[in-house]
Amino acid sequence: MADYNNCFDCGAKLLDDDRAIYKKLVYRGADEFLCIDCLAQQLSCTREEIERLIKYYRESGMCTLFR
Ligand SMILES: [Zn+2]
Repeated sequence: MADYNNCFDCGAKLLDDDRAIYKKLVYRGADEFLCIDCLAQQLSCTREEIERLIKYYRESGMCTLFR
């Protein structure tokens, strides 16, 4: 069964932002998600870069995933 509340890799509790950025960067129709740390690892970038992207999408107001 899909678990919307926890990272499917490390089991960390997920926030709305974690799910939103996963949908944005990986797969819009995702029904399981990675936390920011695991996502950063998968994308070979840093947690800071992902947090900056979240902030950007949120402040731009253009992405319906970040409201
Ligand atoms: Zn994780």
